[in-house]
Amino acid sequence: MDNSLRELYQEVILDHSRHPRHFGVLDNATHKAEGYNPLCGDRVTVMLVLGEDSRVADIKFQGKGCAISQASASLMTDMLAGRTLDEAQKLMDGFVHLVKGDDAGELSADDREHLEAMSGLSEFPMRVKCATLAWHTFHNAVEEGAVT
Ligand code: ZN
Repeated sequence: MDNSLRELYQEVILDHSRHPRHFGVLDNATHKAEGYNPLCGDRVTVMLVLGEDSRVADIKFQGKGCAISQASASLMTDMLAGRTLDEAQKLMDGFVHLVKGDDAGELSADDREHLEAMSGLSEFPMRVKCATLAWHTFHNAVEEGAVT
């Protein structure tokens, strides 16, 4: 592993991939989607309970794949719990900008700090797909993943 790639694997990423938050199955999920990143083989399933106030009342994920994909899913679920869908969308837009190295003005200072570990990925387009997989999967779950 070269040095610049090693730098990506900051403590935050390792910690989240080794000890993922919100990992498991949500039996009462109202929305669910599966995501797959064929470039790396990452798989993520996102389950959530959307409250009547459009808040993410609960969220969990399951998955398998590289450290970045799983750490990103863990970070995401950690941050989305309790947020409204509007806030979640803003967070997602900001995150995508951040990992691509663009201006992430949507993010509050606090949110940015939480996601900063992923900001070095812009030099590695393949890795950007790994990092954004969980977020796209969350988006799909909300848009078209209603559990009937
Ligand atoms: Zn990956």
